[in-house]
Amino acid sequence: MVSNLLVCPDCGRENQSTSTDSSPETDSQCATCDSTELSFNNFRLSPSTLKALDVMGISEPTPIQVAAMPPLLEGKDVIGQAKTGSGKTLAYALPMVERCEPGAGGVQALVLVPTRELAIQVDDVVQKLAPARKIRSILLYGGRSPTLEQHALARGADIVVGTPGRVLDHMWQGTLRVPNLKMLILDEGDEMLDKGFAPDVEKIISFTPQQRQTVIVSATLPPWVKTMVDRHSRNPVTVRVDSDTESPSQIEHVVYTVDNNRKFDALRSLLDDRENGSVLVFGRTKWGVQKLAQCLEEVGYPVGSLQGNLSQPARERVMAKFRAGRVPILVATNVAARGLDVAGVDLVVNYELPESERLFVHRVGRTGRMGREGVAVTFITPEDMPKWRRMERDLGREFVRKAWGSPRSEGRPQQMQSQNGNSQSSRPQRSGPPQRRRRRNPRTAPQPA
Ligand code: ADP
Ligand code: MG
Repeated sequence: MVSNLLVCPDCGRENQSTSTDSSPETDSQCATCDSTELSFNNFRLSPSTLKALDVMGISEPTPIQVAAMPPLLEGKDVIGQAKTGSGKTLAYALPMVERCEPGAGGVQALVLVPTRELAIQVDDVVQKLAPARKIRSILLYGGRSPTLEQHALARGADIVVGTPGRVLDHMWQGTLRVPNLKMLILDEGDEMLDKGFAPDVEKIISFTPQQRQTVIVSATLPPWVKTMVDRHSRNPVTVRVDSDTESPSQIEHVVYTVDNNRKFDALRSLLDDRENGSVLVFGRTKWGVQKLAQCLEEVGYPVGSLQGNLSQPARERVMAKFRAGRVPILVATNVAARGLDVAGVDLVVNYELPESERLFVHRVGRTGRMGREGVAVTFITPEDMPKWRRMERDLGREFVRKAWGSPRSEGRPQQMQSQNGNSQSSRPQRSGPPQRRRRRNPRTAPQPA
């Protein structure tokens, strides 16, 4: 059930609406004067928060923000699902910052995310909102000395953003206590409640007060998450706005069947077609990612790699360069699959298939964000075929496949076909193959093993 309280910016009347699935257009229409204007003013945010949004250049709320913010501001538990790149962070961060009371003492809100990179990114958003309201936030994540974090915690914080392992370490050590916690947020909630993280997350939850607001957001919330959520929340409001698997996105899918020994050349060809944007290439293992990045570097591509074997400073360096466009090609494991918001990524390559349909959705969702266009290329070797068929079934979609190297296969847009047989183009067709910008390096390419 969704219950929204919106204030009309035109006539100032409050609009209360209740529905089972949120429809932002209806919910945001004023019953008194029919205004459909979408504005952050509808939510009665504090002037400092509105000013911070202005500084960020953000003026109109996105559908998930329209739908999720009212129940969140009312203190209700919320399960929020909306497609990748649709503004879920602000959907919970704005109400979180608004609901924290400056100087109340103790941690009031805790945000848990699955990766260090995402923790840094979410904290960055919180830092843009919190100081103006005299709210202090702290970032806790592994791979670096906990001493600075301990000092920061000792000085006091209203909001903690962190990864589960490090947050739990602080809790065990007694350097983080949360008796006054009002709000717990699980970003990428399905991942946080899945096998890998669930033991730590559940332990963390056991340290929090029962009377808290629990918020779970993700682009993918499979049915089993509901059982987990029921254990940790009270009468949650479900807010679901055009999930990736339901609505056509701006992502153009291109699926190539390719033999293993031709994959590297196929990748090089895609990279040669790269225009100004950045490219994210997903491999499966840490070692495979490192090797692939090395091979690309040896033949002259401006590439970096992100995988769990790197030291934390090296991870942060490569992310900073990728964000700045100084390293426009990033080869990564699934550590980059969830949540990362990097401007200018216009191509994602599944060099190796992900393990699940959920990971596929998150990987490709690193492009085509906030309504922009993006291309996702997936390579399928003959050995991958049974796995790919399972993935298509789980996604409820069938993708047109093209053999790599077949006439006009390179760089051409593809049609996506839903399982009801309707063929739909996933985005407007390009008029022809992109122009080659660089000649391929004539040196013989080493092949990744
Ligand atoms: P999600 O968590 O849904 O994948 P993010 O919260 O990372 O998406 O947001 C994606 C991008 O959209 C970010 O760069 C963010 O700054 C931007 N964004 C968020 N809300 C708005 C808005 N209301 N208007 C414009 N841009 C927005
Ligand atoms: Mg997100």
